[in-house]
Amino acid sequence: MTATAPRQEQLWSRCAGCASLLYRKRLRRNLDVCPECGEHARLGAPERLRQLVDPGSLRLLPDRLPEADPLDFVDALPYPHRLTGARASTGLAEGVVCATATIGGHPVALAVMDFRFLGGSLGCAVGELITRAAERALDDRTPLVLITASGGARMQEGALSLMQMATVSQAIAALREAGLLTVSVLTDPTYGGVAASFATNTDLVLAESGARMGFAGPRVIRQITGRALPEGFQTADFLLAHGQVDMVVQRRSLRGRLTALLAATRAGRPARPAVPRQEPASHRERLADDGAALAGPTDPAAEKDAGTPAVRDAWDTVRMARHPGRPTTLDYLDSVFDGFVELHGDRLGADCPAIVGGVARLAGRHVMVIGHQKGHTTAELVARNFGMASPAGHRKALRLMRLAARLGLPVVTLVDTPGADPGVSAEEHGQAAAIAENILTLTVLPTPVLAVITGEGGSGGALALAVADRVLMLENAVYSVISPEGCAAILWPDRSAAPQAARALRLTAPDLRRLGVVDEVVPEPSTAAHDDPAETAHRLRAALLANLLPLLDVPPAMLVRLRRQRFRRFGANRVGARAGLR
Ligand SMILES: [Zn+2]
Repeated sequence: MTATAPRQEQLWSRCAGCASLLYRKRLRRNLDVCPECGEHARLGAPERLRQLVDPGSLRLLPDRLPEADPLDFVDALPYPHRLTGARASTGLAEGVVCATATIGGHPVALAVMDFRFLGGSLGCAVGELITRAAERALDDRTPLVLITASGGARMQEGALSLMQMATVSQAIAALREAGLLTVSVLTDPTYGGVAASFATNTDLVLAESGARMGFAGPRVIRQITGRALPEGFQTADFLLAHGQVDMVVQRRSLRGRLTALLAATRAGRPARPAVPRQEPASHRERLADDGAALAGPTDPAAEKDAGTPAVRDAWDTVRMARHPGRPTTLDYLDSVFDGFVELHGDRLGADCPAIVGGVARLAGRHVMVIGHQKGHTTAELVARNFGMASPAGHRKALRLMRLAARLGLPVVTLVDTPGADPGVSAEEHGQAAAIAENILTLTVLPTPVLAVITGEGGSGGALALAVADRVLMLENAVYSVISPEGCAAILWPDRSAAPQAARALRLTAPDLRRLGVVDEVVPEPSTAAHDDPAETAHRLRAALLANLLPLLDVPPAMLVRLRRQRFRRFGANRVGARAGLR
């Protein structure tokens, strides 16, 4: 590889962030991140590959293409002279280096852009090379990893370079159709036509710490608007806050993060890990017949084995479900699941803190977990909008559900919300349509979906995550079309009638089990979930495994058909269910 030819390196270099004079070798050992201020210096493609891929695994793809100067372009210098100069100074044939390799043992195809080569500009050759890397990924059935660094399209190739945005995007669409993961890693800077195509239309978008990404550059925007730009405009953290990237990653963590994501999203359905089935025989029988899972109310006595049979007043259960000490989704992600990697953003402008989601492992099996997040303190609750999702939250959930289906990952949802965010801004951004789209998508999502009502299951906001093959409910959770207070305000003289409303609404787990809305009640420790979170987590984990594993054997088309039947049933035949109520 010409690119690895040793170049005369200076002994010292000055940090662009803090102006410290740094010993070059020390800086390189630190992955070109300033030990003084954390500034991430730009990396050339060869150095980037060296840092990222497993030693000895790199196989470069051919990088020689026929010379092209389609426009006979001349500015101050003829285009061919600029190309020759770029080749001489970088040792590269073009502005991208493509290869196959393994990262953390996972085979991938890679395309790594090099900003030193004519500003990483996207010309016909760069577009062609990246497209070939994508096609290689398709042939090998491996994920595609793109590391972007570009000022945009290559002006010297005019509209032909613009077309490359479409060419590469088509190749990415083919990978998407094939259920193969695409990941882009934004590095500094990523702008223009690259930002507006394959840097952001991949499944996952990571931003390296310190990276800036945007369609228009800051100078252009300042000129056009005549205004100062907000602090941190277009930086990685800005992109995260505005829902544009899944995560911001320090360079030293990039390899580890990619490894975790590649492991979680390995194409197709990986062989089932050797997990002992823990469900009792009776449970097995119930699951052996998926039709039976759709059956109506079963003998209430069956519930006795499942938990404490103590009859608690519905209003007490409501207060229990809202207890600030009750484990949250992030608590369960820590206690029930392993290796959670959070994915952020709706890609439309926001990242809703009331919904968290990402890939995780459940007893060694990779799953997509999506849930409402509340908090234990007032500050946490406020920061999470009390678990009330905005339209952006629902769209983030939708994005992750679709991604899970494409990659063959089961979806586990954890529902704990007073309801969807009822604010003015939520209305302006299409709250109703956002919820509607989630419900529709879940009814036909071709992958197993398991929902658990862990705390409050508030109305449409809850259902937006709870159209599932199996719906579980923690013993002291509630699930209702309206809050007891809201119901009391409408149907009773005033809100003080909330306790009566709670009883009338039949919102407790045993009631909903009898109604067939919930398939299984997960018993809580004798007091309540918040008194023994560890035991609660243990029981939830067992219930998740017992319910999820059998679903993995059902073909997706069958899952969808059964799921539709499950929800179709609620339209009729409810009389018998009502008879089962006290
Ligand atoms: Zn520095």
